[in-house]
Amino acid sequence: MKCLSCDIVSGVRMSDLIFENKHFHAHQDVAYPIIGLVIVAAKRHFKALDEMSDDESLSLIQLMKNIRSAQRKVLGIDIVYYFYNEDTGHHFNMWMMPRHPWMSTFGKSVESVRPALFFCKRQYG
Ligand SMILES: [Zn+2]
Repeated sequence: MKCLSCDIVSGVRMSDLIFENKHFHAHQDVAYPIIGLVIVAAKRHFKALDEMSDDESLSLIQLMKNIRSAQRKVLGIDIVYYFYNEDTGHHFNMWMMPRHPWMSTFGKSVESVRPALFFCKRQYG
């Protein structure tokens, strides 16, 4: 089965790499050009959180903490939403989606995320 996440973390498909460690690969999203949006993808192919090893679990949370800190310090991002769904053609990848002030146009809290993503894809993608 073709897996886009495997292609990205292996370098078969180009991505804007931000950081990588032994278990994870952090990059900008290929479809949604939003400042500070970071995708953290596992290097190993697996789908669900409960398939993650203890070593991978520790690695993931430490990496996400470092990225979150950089989002705050470098980009001034106060709020981040975290998403991952298991019914996807990708393997495990966590979205760290910042809330920007302009997203209030699309509603409060998480309800604004989907329309904001589509807006950016239409405008800049
Ligand atoms: Zn994969």
